[in-house]
Amino acid sequence: MQTSSCLIHLECSACGKCHASEQLIGLCPACGKPLLARYDTVQAAHTFTRESFKARRADLWRYAEMLPLRNDLFQLALGEGWTPLLKARLGARLGCVETWIKDESCNPTGSFKARGLCMAVSRAFELGAQSIAIPSAGNAGSAMAAYCAAAGLQAQVFIPQDAPPAFATEARAYAARVERVDGLITDCARKVREGVQRYGWFDVSTLKEPYRIEGKKTMGYELAEQLHWKLPDVIIYPTGGGTGLIGMWKAFEEMQQLGLIDGKRPRMVSVQAEGCAPIVKAFHDGADHAEAWQGAKTIADGLRVPSAVGDFLMLQVLRESHGTAVAVSDSEMVEYARVMAAGSGIFPGPEGAACLAAQVKLLDTGWLKGDETVVLFNTGTPLKHIHLWANNT
Ligand SMILES: *Cc1c(COP(=O)(O)O)cnc(C)c1O
Repeated sequence: MQTSSCLIHLECSACGKCHASEQLIGLCPACGKPLLARYDTVQAAHTFTRESFKARRADLWRYAEMLPLRNDLFQLALGEGWTPLLKARLGARLGCVETWIKDESCNPTGSFKARGLCMAVSRAFELGAQSIAIPSAGNAGSAMAAYCAAAGLQAQVFIPQDAPPAFATEARAYAARVERVDGLITDCARKVREGVQRYGWFDVSTLKEPYRIEGKKTMGYELAEQLHWKLPDVIIYPTGGGTGLIGMWKAFEEMQQLGLIDGKRPRMVSVQAEGCAPIVKAFHDGADHAEAWQGAKTIADGLRVPSAVGDFLMLQVLRESHGTAVAVSDSEMVEYARVMAAGSGIFPGPEGAACLAAQVKLLDTGWLKGDETVVLFNTGTPLKHIHLWANNT
Protein backbone atom coordinates (compact mmCIF):
# COMPACT_ATOMS: atom_id res chain seq x y z
CA MET A 1 0.00 0.00 0.00
CA GLN A 2 2.66 2.52 -0.97
CA THR A 3 1.77 6.09 -1.79
CA SER A 4 3.86 7.71 -4.47
CA SER A 5 5.67 10.09 -2.09
CA CYS A 6 8.93 11.38 -3.59
CA LEU A 7 10.30 12.54 -0.22
CA ILE A 8 14.09 12.13 -0.09
CA HIS A 9 15.31 13.75 3.10
CA LEU A 10 14.92 16.65 5.52
CA GLU A 11 17.00 19.78 5.19
CA CYS A 12 17.58 22.40 7.87
CA SER A 13 16.13 25.79 6.94
CA ALA A 14 19.01 27.56 8.73
CA CYS A 15 22.24 25.49 8.63
CA GLY A 16 21.39 23.47 5.50
CA LYS A 17 22.34 20.12 7.04
CA CYS A 18 20.42 17.08 5.75
CA HIS A 19 18.81 14.44 7.96
CA ALA A 20 17.16 11.08 7.31
CA SER A 21 13.41 11.36 6.92
CA GLU A 22 12.34 7.93 8.19
CA GLN A 23 12.54 8.77 11.89
CA LEU A 24 10.39 10.73 14.33
CA ILE A 25 12.24 14.02 14.44
CA GLY A 26 11.66 17.55 15.67
CA LEU A 27 13.99 20.51 15.09
CA CYS A 28 17.39 20.22 13.40
CA PRO A 29 19.59 18.14 15.75
CA ALA A 30 22.59 20.24 14.67
CA CYS A 31 21.29 23.79 15.20
CA GLY A 32 17.74 23.66 16.63
CA LYS A 33 16.00 25.35 13.69
CA PRO A 34 13.07 24.05 11.59
CA LEU A 35 13.58 21.16 9.15
CA LEU A 36 12.02 21.20 5.69
CA ALA A 37 11.03 18.18 3.59
CA ARG A 38 12.81 17.82 0.25
CA TYR A 39 11.50 15.78 -2.67
CA ASP A 40 12.81 14.26 -5.85
CA THR A 41 11.01 16.65 -8.18
CA VAL A 42 12.43 14.99 -11.30
CA GLN A 43 10.81 11.71 -10.26
CA ALA A 44 7.59 13.47 -9.20
CA ALA A 45 7.31 15.38 -12.48
CA HIS A 46 6.61 12.11 -14.37
CA THR A 47 3.16 11.85 -12.81
CA PHE A 48 2.61 15.24 -11.13
CA THR A 49 1.31 17.04 -14.23
CA ARG A 50 -1.38 19.66 -14.80
CA GLU A 51 -3.34 17.11 -16.81
CA SER A 52 -3.19 14.48 -14.05
CA PHE A 53 -5.01 16.65 -11.51
CA LYS A 54 -8.28 16.45 -13.42
CA ALA A 55 -8.73 12.87 -12.23
CA ARG A 56 -7.51 13.25 -8.66
CA ARG A 57 -9.35 13.08 -5.34
CA ALA A 58 -10.85 16.29 -3.97
CA ASP A 59 -8.78 16.69 -0.82
CA LEU A 60 -5.19 17.63 -0.05
CA TRP A 61 -4.01 14.05 -0.62
CA ARG A 62 -4.34 14.80 -4.35
CA TYR A 63 -0.73 16.04 -4.08
CA ALA A 64 0.65 12.69 -2.78
CA GLU A 65 3.95 12.77 -4.70
CA MET A 66 4.88 16.03 -2.97
CA LEU A 67 3.68 14.96 0.48
CA PRO A 68 5.71 12.97 3.03
CA LEU A 69 3.49 9.98 3.83
CA ARG A 70 4.92 6.67 2.55
CA ASN A 71 2.20 4.17 3.33
CA ASP A 72 -1.53 4.63 2.66
CA LEU A 73 -2.39 2.57 5.73
CA PHE A 74 -1.49 5.57 7.88
CA GLN A 75 -3.30 8.16 5.83
CA LEU A 76 -5.82 10.06 7.96
CA ALA A 77 -8.49 11.80 5.92
CA LEU A 78 -11.46 13.79 7.21
CA GLY A 79 -12.13 15.87 4.11
CA GLU A 80 -9.28 18.39 4.54
CA GLY A 81 -8.17 20.74 1.81
CA TRP A 82 -9.47 21.46 -1.71
CA THR A 83 -11.46 24.32 -0.22
CA PRO A 84 -13.35 26.77 -2.43
CA LEU A 85 -11.69 29.85 -3.92
CA LEU A 86 -14.52 32.34 -4.29
CA LYS A 87 -14.61 35.54 -6.31
CA ALA A 88 -16.00 38.22 -3.99
CA ARG A 89 -18.33 40.86 -5.49
CA LEU A 90 -17.33 42.95 -2.50
CA GLY A 91 -14.08 43.58 -4.39
CA ALA A 92 -15.79 45.81 -6.94
CA ARG A 93 -17.07 48.06 -4.15
CA LEU A 94 -13.61 48.26 -2.60
CA GLY A 95 -12.10 49.21 -5.93
CA CYS A 96 -10.25 45.93 -6.34
CA VAL A 97 -12.38 43.91 -8.74
CA GLU A 98 -10.32 40.72 -8.75
CA THR A 99 -10.67 39.94 -5.05
CA TRP A 100 -10.84 36.25 -4.20
CA ILE A 101 -11.42 34.59 -0.85
CA LYS A 102 -9.96 31.18 -0.12
CA ASP A 103 -12.45 29.83 2.38
CA GLU A 104 -10.53 27.65 4.78
CA SER A 105 -13.40 27.56 7.26
CA CYS A 106 -14.73 24.62 5.22
CA ASN A 107 -11.98 22.36 6.60
CA PRO A 108 -12.61 19.70 9.29
CA THR A 109 -12.79 21.42 12.72
CA GLY A 110 -13.48 24.72 10.96
CA SER A 111 -9.99 25.99 10.24
CA PHE A 112 -6.97 25.49 8.01
CA LYS A 113 -5.12 24.01 10.99
CA ALA A 114 -6.66 20.73 9.77
CA ARG A 115 -4.26 20.71 6.80
CA GLY A 116 -1.12 20.84 8.89
CA LEU A 117 -2.29 18.54 11.63
CA CYS A 118 -3.65 16.00 9.16
CA MET A 119 -0.14 15.67 7.74
CA ALA A 120 1.79 15.85 11.04
CA VAL A 121 -0.42 13.29 12.78
CA SER A 122 -0.52 10.92 9.77
CA ARG A 123 3.24 10.98 9.53
CA ALA A 124 3.78 10.63 13.32
CA PHE A 125 1.36 7.67 13.22
CA GLU A 126 3.37 6.11 10.39
CA LEU A 127 6.65 6.64 12.26
CA GLY A 128 5.37 5.06 15.48
CA ALA A 129 4.35 7.93 17.81
CA GLN A 130 1.80 6.91 20.47
CA SER A 131 0.98 10.09 22.32
CA ILE A 132 1.05 13.46 20.63
CA ALA A 133 1.10 16.87 22.30
CA ILE A 134 0.52 20.45 21.22
CA PRO A 135 0.44 23.95 22.68
CA SER A 136 -2.37 25.76 20.94
CA ALA A 137 -4.16 29.08 20.84
CA GLY A 138 -7.24 27.00 20.02
CA ASN A 139 -7.70 25.70 16.48
CA ALA A 140 -4.50 23.65 16.27
CA GLY A 141 -5.50 21.75 19.41
CA SER A 142 -8.91 20.77 18.14
CA ALA A 143 -7.54 19.83 14.72
CA MET A 144 -4.83 17.67 16.28
CA ALA A 145 -7.39 16.03 18.57
CA ALA A 146 -9.59 15.14 15.59
CA TYR A 147 -6.76 13.44 13.67
CA CYS A 148 -5.54 11.63 16.79
CA ALA A 149 -9.10 10.37 17.26
CA ALA A 150 -9.12 9.16 13.64
CA ALA A 151 -5.85 7.29 14.24
CA GLY A 152 -6.61 6.06 17.76
CA LEU A 153 -3.65 7.94 19.24
CA GLN A 154 -3.54 9.79 22.55
CA ALA A 155 -3.78 13.58 22.29
CA GLN A 156 -2.52 16.11 24.85
CA VAL A 157 -3.68 19.67 24.24
CA PHE A 158 -2.55 22.76 26.17
CA ILE A 159 -4.68 25.89 25.63
CA PRO A 160 -4.50 29.31 27.32
CA GLN A 161 -7.07 29.70 30.08
CA ASP A 162 -8.62 32.74 28.43
CA ALA A 163 -9.18 31.20 24.97
CA PRO A 164 -12.88 30.93 24.04
CA PRO A 165 -14.37 27.80 25.68
CA ALA A 166 -15.40 26.26 22.34
CA PHE A 167 -11.83 25.15 21.61
CA ALA A 168 -11.36 23.06 24.76
CA THR A 169 -14.88 21.64 24.51
CA GLU A 170 -14.23 20.59 20.94
CA ALA A 171 -10.85 18.98 21.69
CA ARG A 172 -12.34 17.06 24.64
CA ALA A 173 -15.11 15.71 22.42
CA TYR A 174 -12.34 14.10 20.35
CA ALA A 175 -11.10 12.43 23.57
CA ALA A 176 -8.04 14.65 23.95
CA ARG A 177 -6.68 15.37 27.40
CA VAL A 178 -7.01 19.15 27.57
CA GLU A 179 -5.26 21.38 30.05
CA ARG A 180 -6.10 25.07 30.24
CA VAL A 181 -2.99 27.02 31.16
CA ASP A 182 -2.85 30.34 32.98
CA GLY A 183 -0.73 32.21 30.43
CA LEU A 184 0.01 32.46 26.72
CA ILE A 185 0.78 29.88 24.05
CA THR A 186 4.46 30.20 25.05
CA ASP A 187 3.52 29.00 28.57
CA CYS A 188 1.57 26.12 27.02
CA ALA A 189 4.71 25.23 25.04
CA ARG A 190 6.66 24.92 28.30
CA LYS A 191 4.12 22.36 29.57
CA VAL A 192 4.49 20.36 26.37
CA ARG A 193 8.29 20.35 26.71
CA GLU A 194 7.94 18.96 30.25
CA GLY A 195 5.71 16.15 29.00
CA VAL A 196 8.09 15.36 26.15
CA GLN A 197 10.89 14.89 28.73
CA ARG A 198 8.82 13.01 31.25
CA TYR A 199 6.40 10.90 29.18
CA GLY A 200 7.93 10.78 25.72
CA TRP A 201 5.11 12.66 23.98
CA PHE A 202 5.73 13.69 20.40
CA ASP A 203 5.58 17.48 20.10
CA VAL A 204 3.79 18.85 17.02
CA SER A 205 4.22 22.56 17.84
CA THR A 206 4.35 24.90 14.84
CA LEU A 207 7.53 24.23 12.81
CA LYS A 208 9.03 22.09 15.59
CA GLU A 209 8.40 19.02 13.43
CA PRO A 210 8.74 19.06 9.65
CA TYR A 211 5.28 18.07 8.40
CA ARG A 212 2.63 20.57 9.48
CA ILE A 213 4.12 22.91 6.92
CA GLU A 214 3.78 20.17 4.28
CA GLY A 215 0.05 20.05 4.93
CA LYS A 216 -0.20 23.83 4.89
CA LYS A 217 1.72 24.23 1.65
CA THR A 218 -1.14 22.52 -0.20
CA MET A 219 -2.93 25.90 -0.04
CA GLY A 220 -0.31 27.11 -2.52
CA TYR A 221 -0.83 24.17 -4.87
CA GLU A 222 -4.60 24.63 -4.71
CA LEU A 223 -4.40 28.35 -5.43
CA ALA A 224 -2.32 27.73 -8.53
CA GLU A 225 -4.67 25.03 -9.74
CA GLN A 226 -7.83 27.01 -8.99
CA LEU A 227 -6.46 30.10 -10.77
CA HIS A 228 -5.47 27.97 -13.79
CA TRP A 229 -1.75 28.08 -12.99
CA LYS A 230 -1.54 31.83 -12.86
CA LEU A 231 -0.75 32.99 -9.34
CA PRO A 232 -2.37 36.19 -8.03
CA ASP A 233 -0.47 39.48 -7.73
CA VAL A 234 -0.93 39.66 -3.98
CA ILE A 235 -1.75 37.19 -1.19
CA ILE A 236 -2.97 38.64 2.12
CA TYR A 237 -2.52 36.16 4.93
CA PRO A 238 -3.13 36.37 8.72
CA THR A 239 0.12 35.32 10.32
CA GLY A 240 0.70 33.67 13.67
CA GLY A 241 3.35 30.94 13.63
CA GLY A 242 3.75 31.45 9.91
CA THR A 243 3.32 27.92 8.55
CA GLY A 244 0.90 29.07 5.88
CA LEU A 245 3.09 31.90 4.64
CA ILE A 246 6.26 29.80 4.61
CA GLY A 247 4.42 26.76 3.30
CA MET A 248 2.85 28.52 0.33
CA TRP A 249 6.18 30.04 -0.62
CA LYS A 250 7.73 26.57 -0.51
CA ALA A 251 4.90 25.25 -2.69
CA PHE A 252 5.56 27.94 -5.32
CA GLU A 253 9.25 27.00 -5.45
CA GLU A 254 8.40 23.33 -5.77
CA MET A 255 5.83 24.00 -8.49
CA GLN A 256 8.40 25.92 -10.50
CA GLN A 257 10.89 23.05 -10.17
CA LEU A 258 8.13 20.70 -11.30
CA GLY A 259 7.52 22.85 -14.37
CA LEU A 260 3.94 23.69 -13.36
CA ILE A 261 4.36 27.47 -13.09
CA ASP A 262 6.80 30.14 -14.22
CA GLY A 263 8.90 32.36 -11.95
CA LYS A 264 6.28 35.04 -11.32
CA ARG A 265 5.41 35.14 -7.61
CA PRO A 266 2.73 36.94 -5.61
CA ARG A 267 3.71 39.70 -3.19
CA MET A 268 3.05 38.18 0.21
CA VAL A 269 1.40 40.28 2.91
CA SER A 270 1.52 39.27 6.55
CA VAL A 271 -1.36 40.56 8.65
CA GLN A 272 -1.13 40.64 12.43
CA ALA A 273 -3.09 42.15 15.30
CA GLU A 274 -2.03 45.51 16.74
CA GLY A 275 -1.88 43.83 20.16
CA CYS A 276 0.60 41.19 18.93
CA ALA A 277 2.59 42.19 15.86
CA PRO A 278 6.18 40.93 16.19
CA ILE A 279 6.57 40.21 12.48
CA VAL A 280 5.11 43.56 11.38
CA LYS A 281 7.50 45.34 13.71
CA ALA A 282 10.56 43.33 12.64
CA PHE A 283 9.69 43.76 8.96
CA HIS A 284 9.42 47.54 9.22
CA ASP A 285 12.54 47.71 11.42
CA GLY A 286 14.47 45.86 8.73
CA ALA A 287 15.36 43.05 11.18
CA ASP A 288 16.16 39.41 10.29
CA HIS A 289 14.55 38.04 13.44
CA ALA A 290 11.57 39.20 15.50
CA GLU A 291 11.79 40.12 19.16
CA ALA A 292 9.29 38.43 21.49
CA TRP A 293 6.18 40.63 21.81
CA GLN A 294 5.43 41.69 25.37
CA GLY A 295 1.88 41.58 26.72
CA ALA A 296 0.33 39.97 23.62
CA LYS A 297 -3.38 40.65 23.54
CA THR A 298 -5.93 40.21 20.74
CA ILE A 299 -9.31 38.61 20.07
CA ALA A 300 -7.73 36.81 17.10
CA ASP A 301 -6.48 33.73 18.92
CA GLY A 302 -4.71 32.42 15.83
CA LEU A 303 -2.59 35.57 15.77
CA ARG A 304 -1.70 35.62 19.46
CA VAL A 305 1.81 34.23 18.94
CA PRO A 306 4.34 36.50 20.70
CA SER A 307 7.39 34.70 19.35
CA ALA A 308 7.71 32.15 16.54
CA VAL A 309 10.54 29.70 15.72
CA GLY A 310 9.98 30.45 12.04
CA ASP A 311 10.25 34.26 12.40
CA PHE A 312 13.34 34.50 10.16
CA LEU A 313 11.65 32.39 7.48
CA MET A 314 8.55 34.60 7.46
CA LEU A 315 10.70 37.72 7.15
CA GLN A 316 12.62 36.11 4.28
CA VAL A 317 9.38 35.37 2.43
CA LEU A 318 8.08 38.93 2.88
CA ARG A 319 11.34 40.40 1.55
CA GLU A 320 11.91 37.97 -1.32
CA SER A 321 8.35 38.46 -2.50
CA HIS A 322 8.49 42.27 -2.23
CA GLY A 323 5.58 41.97 0.17
CA THR A 324 4.76 43.87 3.31
CA ALA A 325 3.30 43.51 6.79
CA VAL A 326 0.25 45.23 8.24
CA ALA A 327 -1.23 45.42 11.74
CA VAL A 328 -4.98 45.64 12.27
CA SER A 329 -6.90 46.50 15.45
CA ASP A 330 -9.36 44.15 17.15
CA SER A 331 -12.25 46.51 16.50
CA GLU A 332 -11.37 46.59 12.79
CA MET A 333 -11.50 42.79 12.76
CA VAL A 334 -14.97 42.76 14.29
CA GLU A 335 -16.16 45.44 11.88
CA TYR A 336 -14.62 43.93 8.74
CA ALA A 337 -16.01 40.49 9.55
CA ARG A 338 -19.45 42.06 9.15
CA VAL A 339 -18.39 43.86 5.99
CA MET A 340 -17.15 40.60 4.47
CA ALA A 341 -20.19 38.63 5.59
CA ALA A 342 -22.70 41.17 4.31
CA GLY A 343 -20.79 41.87 1.10
CA SER A 344 -19.73 38.38 0.04
CA GLY A 345 -21.78 35.75 1.87
CA ILE A 346 -18.66 34.56 3.68
CA PHE A 347 -18.65 35.24 7.42
CA PRO A 348 -14.97 35.07 8.43
CA GLY A 349 -13.27 34.56 11.75
CA PRO A 350 -11.40 37.56 13.19
CA GLU A 351 -8.20 36.46 11.42
CA GLY A 352 -9.90 36.29 8.01
CA ALA A 353 -11.56 39.66 8.68
CA ALA A 354 -8.11 41.10 9.42
CA CYS A 355 -7.13 40.32 5.79
CA LEU A 356 -9.97 42.43 4.44
CA ALA A 357 -9.10 45.29 6.81
CA ALA A 358 -5.49 45.07 5.61
CA GLN A 359 -6.58 45.08 1.97
CA VAL A 360 -8.50 48.31 2.53
CA LYS A 361 -5.47 49.90 4.21
CA LEU A 362 -3.16 48.83 1.38
CA LEU A 363 -5.54 50.22 -1.23
CA ASP A 364 -5.66 53.51 0.70
CA THR A 365 -1.89 53.86 0.77
CA GLY A 366 -1.58 52.90 -2.90
CA TRP A 367 0.61 49.86 -2.14
CA LEU A 368 -2.15 47.78 -3.70
CA LYS A 369 -3.59 48.83 -7.07
CA GLY A 370 -7.21 48.40 -8.06
CA ASP A 371 -6.38 46.28 -11.11
CA GLU A 372 -4.35 43.71 -9.18
CA THR A 373 -5.59 40.21 -8.40
CA VAL A 374 -5.75 39.63 -4.67
CA VAL A 375 -6.39 36.51 -2.62
CA LEU A 376 -7.52 36.85 1.00
CA PHE A 377 -7.51 33.88 3.34
CA ASN A 378 -10.45 33.22 5.60
CA THR A 379 -8.52 30.87 7.85
CA GLY A 380 -11.31 29.80 10.17
CA THR A 381 -14.95 29.85 11.15
CA PRO A 382 -16.30 32.75 13.25
CA LEU A 383 -18.55 30.38 15.18
CA LYS A 384 -16.00 29.57 17.89
CA HIS A 385 -15.81 33.34 18.56
CA ILE A 386 -19.45 34.14 17.94
CA HIS A 387 -19.67 36.14 21.19
CA LEU A 388 -17.64 38.89 19.46
CA TRP A 389 -20.65 39.82 17.36
CA ALA A 390 -23.43 38.90 19.76
CA ASN A 391 -24.22 42.22 21.47
CA ASN A 392 -23.04 44.43 18.77
CA THR A 393 -25.66 44.88 16.07
C1 LIG B 1 -3.32 29.45 13.54
C2 LIG B 1 -4.20 30.40 12.87
C3 LIG B 1 -3.66 31.44 12.09
C4 LIG B 1 -2.18 31.66 11.91
O1 LIG B 1 -1.66 30.66 11.07
P1 LIG B 1 -0.12 30.40 10.77
O2 LIG B 1 -0.10 29.74 9.44
O3 LIG B 1 0.39 29.50 11.84
O4 LIG B 1 0.58 31.70 10.75
C5 LIG B 1 -4.56 32.26 11.42
N1 LIG B 1 -5.91 32.08 11.53
C6 LIG B 1 -6.44 31.11 12.28
C7 LIG B 1 -7.93 30.97 12.35
C8 LIG B 1 -5.61 30.22 12.97
O5 LIG B 1 -6.16 29.24 13.70
